Amino acid sequence: MVWKVRAAGSGERLAQARELDRADPLASLRPEFRPPASGAIYLNGNSLGQLPTRTLARLGRVADQEWGGQLVRAWPDWIDLPVKVGDRLAADLLGARPGEVAVADSTSVNLYKCVAAVLAREPSRRVLITDDQNFPSDRYVLQGLAGSLGADLWVLAADPITGLDLDLLVSALDERVAAICLSQVAYRSAAVIDMAAVNQAAHRVGALTVWDLCHSVGALPIQLHETGADLAVGCSYKYLHAGPGAPAFLYVRRELQGELQQPIWGWFGCARQFAMEPDFTPAAGIRSFLTGTPPVLGVVAVQEGAALVAEAGIARVRAKSLALTSYAQQLIGQQLVRLGFALASPSAADERGAHLALRHAQAYPLCRMLRERELVVTDFREPDVIRLGLAPLSTSFEDVCAAIDRIAQVAGDSNHPDAPSLRSRVT
Ligand SMILES: *Cc1c(COP(=O)(O)O)cnc(C)c1O
Repeated sequence: MVWKVRAAGSGERLAQARELDRADPLASLRPEFRPPASGAIYLNGNSLGQLPTRTLARLGRVADQEWGGQLVRAWPDWIDLPVKVGDRLAADLLGARPGEVAVADSTSVNLYKCVAAVLAREPSRRVLITDDQNFPSDRYVLQGLAGSLGADLWVLAADPITGLDLDLLVSALDERVAAICLSQVAYRSAAVIDMAAVNQAAHRVGALTVWDLCHSVGALPIQLHETGADLAVGCSYKYLHAGPGAPAFLYVRRELQGELQQPIWGWFGCARQFAMEPDFTPAAGIRSFLTGTPPVLGVVAVQEGAALVAEAGIARVRAKSLALTSYAQQLIGQQLVRLGFALASPSAADERGAHLALRHAQAYPLCRMLRERELVVTDFREPDVIRLGLAPLSTSFEDVCAAIDRIAQVAGDSNHPDAPSLRSRVT
């Protein structure tokens, strides 16, 4: 799906955007999401997805009837939710088999558990590999693990736009490597890396892969089983629309589950949870990767958000996402490049995820002004990047068209006398 955007005035541009919305097979799902309270256009679904109205209703019911009405008597229904919802994620969105995915904890904690388990599996392998464009929290978790478990962390230099070069990765691999820990979609540039090729390269030297799927789950089809992925983690509050602090998920390939023991032992990961035995015996299967009581309200929100994406169909979600980013890319070329913006994402749509990164010398003040004047909600990433998150289910072509017009207007105002330059606590 590629259209040529007519170079035109703003009225004609808007008319064309509306045509594209009318032709969008997923347009009927947009009313499922709450629009922001202000008149701002929300292009930040890559950070926090919009609230599905059905999730609001479900949370109300669970709080009122189950928590409020049944109290502990609801636990028999709640207790299996982490693996039940995990199985749905596996089947609908991750290309994984039943019993390979569970919902738990945060992405960072799950990464810690997975990588620590891999390091414990083969004590002769003491090297972890990641790249310098990987998400900071991932790099910090790996640094901490390397320090506390006596491993080395090799941080490969990746291109800020196109990502990690596969040949460079392959040349770094040998029998010392325990795990390769990468994001499938880069958080800053949205570059996609070839998961199958990395898994193959890892397996040639006997290493395992641990994938971060935060920017890919709910945005593009993932084939964990088919590509031979070993472990994976990901969050639910971006393209799965599960809400702030909703729990993350983890995936462990079935064949590895018996060989891997994660380090945070708790009663939810124990074989006989209510036997209250003196010593820990791990549960069979993916349950051994659980630790403590699941945040039931959060897990329910993951269930609803993931069901919405599954209803749309992940192939159609990806098709719309490719269309949205290609469309935005053309408008950026026509309206923003002459104002000092440069695309900082791969230029081919199928080589990137669902957001676009733009570099601009005044990225920070522009981003602040767009938010404070309630025009466009985007986010800023150091040192000079604005990310436009085009969440496929909740973003319309009209949103993209109007947002680029507004960004052009603000950037075109000569030298921003009121431009804020001090960083706020959250960017
Ligand atoms: C958003 C994001 C995370 C979030 O980690 P939490 O521990 O859930 O806060 C991790 N990794 C990547 C790549 C992300 O984009």
